[in-house]
Amino acid sequence: MQKKITGLIHHSYVPPKGFEAPQPGVFKASTVFFPTVAAMRSREWKDKTAYTYGLHGTPTSYMLEERLCALEGGEQCLLVPSGLAALGLVAMSLLKSGDEVLLPDNVYGPNKAIVEGELSGWGISHQYYNPMDPQDLEAQISSRTKLVWLEAAGSVTLEFPNLVEMVRICQRRKVLTALDNTWGAGLAFAPFDLAPDTEPAIGVDISAHALTKYPSGGGDVLMGSVITRNPGLHLKLKLTHMRFGIGVGMNDVEAVLRSLPSMALRYRTHDEATRILAQWANAQPEFVQVLHPAMADSPGHAHWKALCKNTPGGAAGLFSVMIDPRFSQDRVDAFCDALKLFRLGYSWGGPISLVVPYDLASMRTSWPPHLAKGTLVRFSIGLEAVEDLQADIAQALLKLR
Ligand SMILES: *Cc1c(COP(=O)(O)O)cnc(C)c1O
Repeated sequence: MQKKITGLIHHSYVPPKGFEAPQPGVFKASTVFFPTVAAMRSREWKDKTAYTYGLHGTPTSYMLEERLCALEGGEQCLLVPSGLAALGLVAMSLLKSGDEVLLPDNVYGPNKAIVEGELSGWGISHQYYNPMDPQDLEAQISSRTKLVWLEAAGSVTLEFPNLVEMVRICQRRKVLTALDNTWGAGLAFAPFDLAPDTEPAIGVDISAHALTKYPSGGGDVLMGSVITRNPGLHLKLKLTHMRFGIGVGMNDVEAVLRSLPSMALRYRTHDEATRILAQWANAQPEFVQVLHPAMADSPGHAHWKALCKNTPGGAAGLFSVMIDPRFSQDRVDAFCDALKLFRLGYSWGGPISLVVPYDLASMRTSWPPHLAKGTLVRFSIGLEAVEDLQADIAQALLKLR
């Protein structure tokens, strides 16, 4: 007679098949069972028609991977524990000692930390190119260049580059392109099909996305994805992903699956409110420049207009202001502290509006000529009523004056 504890662990009850509900189930595993030794031996871990080990995926992660491919127009997807891990995975998979990687000068800051703090020690060099000058990018491509990072719009300053031209150059020079697609999120433009109706097709090779932002939408999950449209390239990334054991938790995957259906609605709502606030900010004398690619005088506006949907949902919920240099850093800090609905905090894409003051001079190789001199403050717009957000900035401006 089997003991009770054994019966509890090896219980014979199997729930009926055919359960269907709006939300997919959460399948969590390290161990995955095989019916026979033969099945175990013949199982090929890379084959996604079955399961091998939790690190290589469960029905829950496979489902998110497929939905993210649909979002971005890709064919293969890897999930990683953060957006930053997605950038790191791309670098570790594709660059070897002696190679060089090019990054836009307005790239997401921690990507600079990867190349300066890690890759340089592995004999991998880097150069920063002017994101607003495709010729500068082309001039920096050498026989050692193995990867070009792209970002549209750029981090913090939100310049919109001539993405199509830069990808065309890299395709012609046979250099891999990786786009940090967190801002566009698969909604503002299609990263793998940047110029529909052109032959050959123009698209990036890799799209890295901080799912932490809009796909999660809650400010409570960290995750990233690396999407490709090339089985060989995907395999290279997947091998590195597997060798380093870069897994994600299925409860987090489920949280993103839960948020994905509302993502386009949220993105559009963030966009609408952000454009209203950016226009209003443009009329405030303390702000000498407002940076938002949909604004006519923002750097790269024409490129944004050519690539993105000009309707709500064509831009993310971010804008930055350059505060008149006659206000000291202390006054700018007091302005940020005086905001009540806008909370001080990194990241974006959740329901709560956020504000961060940046020391731009320390983040760029030189002060970009298209930016007014001043102190940069970035706003990320949540889902609050736009009137309330505007009133909040207006009352904080009184503290600045
Ligand atoms: C937030 C962000 C990341 C990193 O995402 P985490 O999940 O916070 O690591 C990468 N790139 C861009 C453009 C981002 O905004």
